Amino acid sequence: MSRGHDRLIAELREKLGATVVVTDPDLIAPWLTDWRGRWTGKAAAMLQPGTREEVSTILAAANEAGVPLVPQGGNSSMVGGATPDQSGDMVILSLRRMKEIRAIDPETRQCVVEAGMILATLQDELAEVGLRLPLDLGARGSATIGGLVSTNAGGTEVLRHGTMGEQVLGLEAVLADGSVIDTLSPLKKDNRGPRIDRMMIGGEGQFGVITAVRLQLTALPSDRATAWVGVASPQAALKLLRFCEQECDAVEGFELLPKDSLAAAEAVFDLRAPLDGDHDWQVLIEAKGESEAGTLNEKLGSILAGAIEQGLAQDAVLAQSEAQAEAFWSIRHHLSDAEKRHYGMANSHDISVPVDAMPAFLKEVRDRIEADYPGAWVSGYGHLGDGNIHLHVRPMDRASDDWRATEGAEIERKVHDMIVAHGGSISAEHGIGQMKRDEFARLGEPARLAMLRALKQALDPKRILNPGKLIP
Ligand SMILES: Cc1cc2nc3c(=O)[nH]c(=O)nc-3n(C[C@H](O)[C@H](O)[C@H](O)COP(=O)(O)OP(=O)(O)OC[C@H]3O[C@@H](n4cnc5c(N)ncnc54)[C@H](O)[C@@H]3O)c2cc1C
Repeated sequence: MSRGHDRLIAELREKLGATVVVTDPDLIAPWLTDWRGRWTGKAAAMLQPGTREEVSTILAAANEAGVPLVPQGGNSSMVGGATPDQSGDMVILSLRRMKEIRAIDPETRQCVVEAGMILATLQDELAEVGLRLPLDLGARGSATIGGLVSTNAGGTEVLRHGTMGEQVLGLEAVLADGSVIDTLSPLKKDNRGPRIDRMMIGGEGQFGVITAVRLQLTALPSDRATAWVGVASPQAALKLLRFCEQECDAVEGFELLPKDSLAAAEAVFDLRAPLDGDHDWQVLIEAKGESEAGTLNEKLGSILAGAIEQGLAQDAVLAQSEAQAEAFWSIRHHLSDAEKRHYGMANSHDISVPVDAMPAFLKEVRDRIEADYPGAWVSGYGHLGDGNIHLHVRPMDRASDDWRATEGAEIERKVHDMIVAHGGSISAEHGIGQMKRDEFARLGEPARLAMLRALKQALDPKRILNPGKLIP
């Protein structure tokens, strides 16, 4: 640790106290490794501000001292976005103590919430007043509002409601020099130039530290239908999606689930898919609305009966209770973990292509990789309705770090090339972080990369905000 760190830590401890400035290695240790367990770093200290003013004080001082900070929420980034590097030069800036709801307005269905609030906790609080944030994902128990905005997270309700960024009406963020940008005011119209606060959405902590957000909410649904459907192929699943959308505007989630992923959930967690029969592909569909309870179940039931009649689906079952619906979703949310434990580590690609191109892309990537790399196995599941699949490539004899660095890395580049050729994105929802930085540098459009670098240079010339992530 350099003298700059020593001075910064001493200065901040004097100004902000020991609750904010943590140097006990045992308290810092749990926050040094990313969720996937792929990156472990070191940190000279962990700072835990409780107010926006404290965040300002920290940033101004760190900027002055040239000490890099890693903004961190729940550290559940899938791309090593919030984990410090190995140098020991970085300081973790944890937002987890900033977890107040500053305001909820049931009339306008809006709330202002601090960045460290955990998604599940916010949903519980909102449910008390008949509201919800229309965003859900497997990390709901750890992901914070600041992390969700900074990664523009997606999840299982994007189909109808859009990504996290689309729920953000305004925000408060502290810039690298300690100054504050505040667009929390509930203005319906504000045309003072472009919405510069939007660059914090998906900004991965590069341009500022988000301290609070104004969110657009929806009513807590009074009616819900959840169905599990067997289909012949991803192409059939896509046709089923379009059919459902034509018949019902309440469809929020449409998840494609292959047989091998479901086999892992059964083997590891004893979570059995609810359909009897052998289906190569299955789909989990969710519809939510404000109708009288039971209406949507009836509607989705008749839509699926029609789909089976037309040969779009093979079989279907509807959840008959809230508990059963949650049990269906529990299978979906356990897939990542189940696959990892059952089949071993994989090279995992969180990718998107235009929705209608996904079935052809899935087939092409599988055929090509499995032909070019005998023993490699390609599988994918996820948000078909958003054109976003989590595509996994494994060697049959379990992935090792060595495989990852050699053949795995070569395969990854090929997959990414194919994605670009299909007009897709190498990061649909998890962001770039440290995991995809090199590939972003290789494949990002030159103008996009140049703009990002110019913005970074203008707003954080000393590179104190999350260096080593996102921007190549
Ligand atoms: C089991 C599981 C399932 C998941 N499913 C999905 C999914 O379906 N869809 C999806 O999109 N993601 C998913 N994720 C990824 C993850 O949940 C999201 O990326 C989430 O947004 C991370 O929130 P966090 O608070 O943990 O952020 P962190 O991991 O702490 O941080 C993520 C990034 O945001 C920055 N950051 C954090 N807080 C702030 C702040 N206040 N100001 C500025 N920058 C900040 C960090 O520096 C980092 O770059 C999943 C993760 C897990 C573990």
